[in-house]
Amino acid sequence: MADAKNVYDFTDLQNWSEVTKDLDVPARLSVFGDPVEHSLSPEMHNPGLQAAGVDSQYVRLHIRPDELVKALRSLGDAGFIGTNVTIPHKGGVFAAVDEMTEVARRTKSVNTVLVEDGKLVGHNTDAPGLKRAIREEFSVDLRDMQVLILGAGGGAGRAAAVQCAMDQCERLVLANRTFEKAESLKNELQDYAETDRLEGPANRLVAIPCDVKSLEREMEHVDLIINCTNVGMKMSDPELIPQRLIQPHQLVYDMVYSPRRTRLMAAAENQGAKAANGLSMLLWQGALAFEFWFNRAAPIEQMREGLLGRLNSK
Ligand code: NAP
Repeated sequence: MADAKNVYDFTDLQNWSEVTKDLDVPARLSVFGDPVEHSLSPEMHNPGLQAAGVDSQYVRLHIRPDELVKALRSLGDAGFIGTNVTIPHKGGVFAAVDEMTEVARRTKSVNTVLVEDGKLVGHNTDAPGLKRAIREEFSVDLRDMQVLILGAGGGAGRAAAVQCAMDQCERLVLANRTFEKAESLKNELQDYAETDRLEGPANRLVAIPCDVKSLEREMEHVDLIINCTNVGMKMSDPELIPQRLIQPHQLVYDMVYSPRRTRLMAAAENQGAKAANGLSMLLWQGALAFEFWFNRAAPIEQMREGLLGRLNSK
């Protein structure tokens, strides 16, 4: 009996039963990425699968964009339950699945695939994962919040905005460095703004460029700031918003989780605001993928321990 390899590839997937015949637990779940070595998903999912008594393990698959469709179509024959996908495949998988959930359709992005009766069903768990993370970190619901999304033009920002709109949050401010992308997302979400849930003092749906003046204008009507940009992942990254703009009553959620205390979190805490990093979103998007595959609650504590164990060992 053998342990799984750290990373498998497309050629392995084409001969899956032969390549994995010596594994003590069959590999029937995976994450596709390019690159994929950095993915923490196996360390998060495997303790969960074990705790739930599922006779399956989760592995990394290095799949290049030109291999993606064929790799997805191989999953059924290889005996897979499903797969996650990460950068750069979320858009490609969206285009390739046979069916999808409402949230996947609205985010135009798929990070979780279920193989069901020979069909590929796509879902996006980043969006509802964010919702659960916000509840866990701050004991509030998106629907009660006036939300500012920094980086609304990227994939994660779009997922966050769609979830806020689906939950009918009180107010949504879409900020992006490239203003046109925020404006175009605003146009897509217009149906949300036209519902008359609340008559507030400020416009319910706003798109702005990510500059100091525009942010300053909106801050008065913001309860929750979500960083969906990749600013903060490197020590040399610039300040995303000036610290003085953050107010003590605001909640700040940074999707970045490495470093664990990001520059934005430090700025928020210096201002007396509550802040959290993106680890909880990573955990909940994984837990919701488990729920999508198995139609049962995920063993969240074992998954959390696995994730933290890997991070603490780095
Ligand atoms: P993406 O599609 O490449 O989008 C990047 C976004 O960041 C764009 O809106 C971009 O603006 C903005 N941006 C980049 N550099 C900037 C700068 N210097 N100043 C202002 N804005 C800047 O990336 P993504 O897939 O959405 O991921 C974004 C972040 O979310 C990453 O850090 C990723 O790790 C994190 N994430 C975390 C989780 C989790 O579970 N915690 C899940 C998904 C993503 P432009 O449009 O102007 O280029």
